[in-house]
This record gives sequence, C-alpha cells and structure tokens, in this order.
Amino acid sequence: KKAIAIMTSGGDSPGMNAAARAVVRTALYEGVQVYGIKDGYDGMLKDDIIELTSRSVSDIIQRGGTFLGTARCPEFKTPEGRRKGYENLKKRGVEGLVIIGGDGSLTGGSLLSKETGIPIVGLPGTIDNDVWGTDYTIGCDTAANTIVDALNKLRDTASAHRRIMIVEVMGHKSGWLAMESGIAGGAEYVLVPEVKYDLDQMCEDIKAQYAAGKRYSIIVIAEGAGDGMGLGKIVEEKTGIDTRVSVLGHIQRGGSPTVEDRMKASMLGEKAALALISGASDVVFGFEQGKVVSINLFDSVNNKKTLDPELVRLARVLA
Ligand code: ADP
Repeated sequence: KKAIAIMTSGGDSPGMNAAARAVVRTALYEGVQVYGIKDGYDGMLKDDIIELTSRSVSDIIQRGGTFLGTARCPEFKTPEGRRKGYENLKKRGVEGLVIIGGDGSLTGGSLLSKETGIPIVGLPGTIDNDVWGTDYTIGCDTAANTIVDALNKLRDTASAHRRIMIVEVMGHKSGWLAMESGIAGGAEYVLVPEVKYDLDQMCEDIKAQYAAGKRYSIIVIAEGAGDGMGLGKIVEEKTGIDTRVSVLGHIQRGGSPTVEDRMKASMLGEKAALALISGASDVVFGFEQGKVVSINLFDSVNNKKTLDPELVRLARVLA
C-alpha cells in the first residue's frame, strides 16, 4: 500500500491544522496511508512519527497552532541530518512528503529532495505572507484580522485621550502583515522594512494635524522596520504629544483561523495530497489571483518575494 507523510515546520500559523486535515483526509480517501511527523524536522530525525487516521484530524479545523507540533532543528541544516531523517521515512515505506511551513522549512525540503530523491510537495504556512510565487500563505489572513481587531480597540482609547498610538507587529523581513492590517485598520502611517521613512517629516505632519483638530494617530510598525518602544520615545519627544506603544507579539500567531484561511488551507491541502499521490514532486501550491497555482519548489525558495508597491501606494493615499 502506498504511503505519504505530512509535517508542519518553522513558525506555526493558523490554518496549518486545516491544511493537514485536508491532506490526511484526501490521501485516505484515495486509499493511501498517511504518517504524521511530530515537531517538524526535529521529529523526523528523532523518529517521532505516527500513523494518522481520519479521526486523528477530527476537531482541529477551528484551532490555531498545529496538532503535529513544530520546532526548529539546526541538525537538519547538515547533509548527515537530512540523510538520517530520510532513513526514518524510508523504513516505513513513505513515498512522498508534504511540508507545511515557511521559507526555511521549504528550503530544507528542497535540499532533502535534491539529496535523496524523495518527492516533496510544499504548502506555504506563515503569517508573514513572504513566500515567493504565491499571493497567499496559510495564516496570513487570521493574523491580519487579529491586528485589525487590536487597531480598532486602540483607536478608541487613542481618540479619547488625543494620543498617538504606535503598534508594533510581526514581520522581520516582510512588511506585508503591517501593510495589509494597517490599510484595513485605517492606520495613519505604516512603517515597513522595505520602504525608507522620514521620521522628522512624519512627526511634523502629526503635529500639524493635531493642531488642526485631529484626535488620534495610529502608526503601525513592522518589527523589521524598527523597535516600537524606541520609536514611541522619539515620536513623543519630537511631537510633544502623549504617545503609547503596544507590542502585539505572539497574540498575532494564535487564534481560530478565519474562513478564508480554513478554505484556502483546505483547498491547498487537497491539491498537495493529490499531486504527491499522482507522482508530482518539487512543487509548492499557492494562490495567484484567487486561483490555486503550483510553483516550482526551487524557484520558490531561491527567490525573494517583494512587497506589492500598490499596497504601499494605497496606504499613503488613504492615510
Ligand atoms: P520557517 O519555515 O517558518 O521559515 P525556519 O526558517 O526557522 O522557519 O525553518 C524551520 C526549520 O527548517 C529549521 O529549524 C531547519 O530545520 C530547517 N531549515 C531552515 N533553513 C534551512 C536550510 N537553509 N537548510 C536546511 N534546513 C533548513
């Protein structure tokens, strides 16, 4: 009987469970056995691998996190580590692997495929939406909604006190999450690692706006664009306006996935399982203009996604 394996790896994101569930149920529907690897590459190396049934993935579509667990595994960055992981799959007769994770996890998968020949299908799972070749990554919508919810609340209190509110969100290298949630949450300024900003000019503008009667100003800053706390001190000094800082932190990672994340993750999970079963390898499934697309795995990990300039422009126009 044919068998495949599934794992989640790297940073967790809401919707990974929905994707894993879809992979498992599709494979079982096709008469293919499924193994679940616990804690990403760490579990692959430690042989922490279990057989999954349809029941194993009951009651998880609505949960954030990942029922398989996830971890970071430095040993997998060595060829010896990858060989060891491969042996644990081979001895169970695993003929293909679905990896749900970010750029790093998919890079690890591409090396595993290249070195051992095991077929790999990747699904982009990260709240950062920074995987090349796809408009969408599993979890980005839920995280953006969580931030917008926080912005709504912070705006109420900012307006009551005529304060400036600075909100630091996740995104070391990618400003997508900050841009998307900043636009949807009506932020006055969105500071991202990809775009230079003029701090003096921003403070001058805010001062003028407050003088003209404005009651609040919301600045969203991606962690990669600077430290929120530090920015708060500078802005308060330069403007003389009461400023507060909120660092949202890991709140952004958790929570029940939105309908969009559940639907897209389910669609991607089905495609991944079917592709692997029919002999495909070295592909990542994602979305482009609302449709499922397949991207070459090596292209995906060897290219850097850039922030859509349309989003940057829109954020400026609407602020
Ligand atoms: P993400 O998948 O969210 O980008 P990481 O970058 O932390 O998260 O990667 C998760 C795991 O993938 C790492 O702990 C490591 O085991 C594996 N990995 C990451 N980068 C590489 C690489 N260049 N070569 C091999 N394995 C990698």
